[in-house]
Amino acid sequence: MSIASSPGVILDDRFARELAEMAVAWRAEEPSEPRLLVLDEPLAAALGLDPAWLRTREGVRLLVGAEVPEGASPVAQAYAGHQFGRFVPLLGDGRALLLGELVDADGRLRDLHLKGSGRTPFARGGDGLAAVGPMLREYVVSRAMHALGIPTTRSLAVVATGRTVRRETLLPGAVLARVASSHLRVGSFQYARATGDVDLLRRLADHAIARHHPAAAESEQPYVALLDAVIAAQASLVARWMLVGFIHGVMNTDNMTISGETIDYGPCAFMETFDPATVFSSIDQGGRYAYGNQPVVAHWNLARLAEALLPLLHEDQEQAVALAGSSLDRFPPRYNAAWSVGMRAKLGLPDDLDPTSVVPLADELLTLLQSDHVDHTSFFRVLAVAARGDAEPARRLFSDLAAIDDWLARWRALGPDADAMDRVNPVYIPRNHLVEEALAAATGGDLEPLERLLAAVADPYHERTGLERYAAAAPPDFGAYQTFCGT
Ligand code: AMP
Ligand code: MG
Repeated sequence: MSIASSPGVILDDRFARELAEMAVAWRAEEPSEPRLLVLDEPLAAALGLDPAWLRTREGVRLLVGAEVPEGASPVAQAYAGHQFGRFVPLLGDGRALLLGELVDADGRLRDLHLKGSGRTPFARGGDGLAAVGPMLREYVVSRAMHALGIPTTRSLAVVATGRTVRRETLLPGAVLARVASSHLRVGSFQYARATGDVDLLRRLADHAIARHHPAAAESEQPYVALLDAVIAAQASLVARWMLVGFIHGVMNTDNMTISGETIDYGPCAFMETFDPATVFSSIDQGGRYAYGNQPVVAHWNLARLAEALLPLLHEDQEQAVALAGSSLDRFPPRYNAAWSVGMRAKLGLPDDLDPTSVVPLADELLTLLQSDHVDHTSFFRVLAVAARGDAEPARRLFSDLAAIDDWLARWRALGPDADAMDRVNPVYIPRNHLVEEALAAATGGDLEPLERLLAAVADPYHERTGLERYAAAAPPDFGAYQTFCGT
């Protein structure tokens, strides 16, 4: 534990101390001309950091890792992972650093982490850098996810480095300062397991229990309880993604947290017209991480976590496998329960209605949305208008009027509450054309479109006049959208 020279910045090095085998002491590359682009002031305040100080030269130096609070021990973390189904025994932070942990205003331990801070021993062929556009994408989308109430890592700041990054073209470089309840991933457990060191695996599991799932420590089988808790957290998280139309894009096991927070906003994007086959990522050619596949992939990833944990679940291997299997069997019902409760709320239906009875009705609706290419986000707002008595705006979105009229009649008979719907169905999401517009402008030096987009998505449920273009679908000439990974 250390006391910083910077006002109020005290960083612990708990991960580095407790799991030294998974941490390589490292320092950030010092940017030539650091310039703060965006700062999440409410988040800074919640972390006990003074936003005004973070904007000073000294504060910005902390945000890029050039100034390390006295006693802090920045590390690159080791992890493994399945990338598109293929196991890679050593990935790790190739361009990222854990600066340390801090205690936020609510007394919770949070990681302060940098992305784009230079090559580390895990960099392999990479340059260790990040460009302004992708770091601002993570900033905007994680801000939107947080405002939507979806568990997520947070973006504290993006700082332009003054360095040029070579991608398909030359781009301005940036460092993202990220905050997370931890950076433990399924891939962290795969790494520990692959070392063959069961003591390390146990320490990692104990660390995860203490930080994220402390109730598991009270269980008779703490490691089975840890697995169950991660399964429950991920089932609930992925259900939230599905209900809002979020597509992560690269659900490799190194991008799935133990905390249940969304992490690593690379080729992510929000779906517009409802279609389970939607894929935006340029490298996901098989559609492994398509919108509709996300629950299946989450379950698959959790099976990799269970495999990694086997030596801790039971000393008898057969019994360990049986315990892992019954935990994993609980993922589908947990996911389905979270999804149906969420869908009941989206449809404005009463809490005392059995959520499973909503599923056939919701499935029928989704089929109609898909066949008429209806915009997923705006549909649920227009449906609230129908709940208030005017079904015309909703009907206009469909060609099969007999089918939607029949559906609307059965739904209205259940007594939907329009105001409740507007509290859970967002008006503003970071739509792809708006994100691209904001990132292109910011890359060219104009931050205004980004600021306006942030203002819209930071308050997603409250419709405001003047923000109509932030609620509208992409213009037809926006075309087929593609996102890129590892940038
Ligand atoms: P991701 O798909 O972004 O989660 O990254 C997968 C792996 O590639 C991680 O080990 C990253 O640290 C590493 N990586 C991605 N981009 C770079 C880069 N530009 N330089 C070094 N390592 C990178
Ligand atoms: Mg990653």
